[in-house]
Amino acid sequence: MRIGIDFDGTIADTTATKIRYALDVFGESITPVETFGLAGRGRLGDQRYVEMVQAAHRGWTHHAPPMPGALEAMRRLAAAHDLYVVTARNEDEVGPARQWLREFAVPAVEIVHTAGASKVDACRDLDVALMLDDLPTVLGELVGAGIGGALLETPYNRDLERHERLHLVPSWEHFVALAERLGAPPAVR
Ligand SMILES: [Mg+2]
Repeated sequence: MRIGIDFDGTIADTTATKIRYALDVFGESITPVETFGLAGRGRLGDQRYVEMVQAAHRGWTHHAPPMPGALEAMRRLAAAHDLYVVTARNEDEVGPARQWLREFAVPAVEIVHTAGASKVDACRDLDVALMLDDLPTVLGELVGAGIGGALLETPYNRDLERHERLHLVPSWEHFVALAERLGAPPAVR
């Protein structure tokens, strides 16, 4: 099976990077929920929020630790599946992500960036059957287009609206189990 995997907040703990940036640069101690969306803008103001997000996607990318269990899970998955990193990062943001993935020896066949566009076309082109992401809006589009979607549950996506056919995975371990279940050959009758 071909599996698509998001980068920020799914493979790399971009939330930790944002928390560290806010503390080091602004002197603000923010929560995981305040690293994202309206809560983040409300806490930091638009200008500082955008600065933090851009830093996390550019020069501060290398500060991101791997998400818990991500590296081990991807090594296990890569033994049976083809893994594609599908990120919405822009042209000028994908370089640091590629560097990070190289440094952590992530076993991805290819790294594709959509520059903010929907991931539907990229997943179709790659023939991805299942995508793991931390944003339910991204996955809702995929599920609507007939592609399997799994949401890695985080504090900041807890209250966001979710497509009913989305698989919910509380951890990478759960995602491995899901991929093994969905990717298993049909039972012989
Ligand atoms: Mg993400």
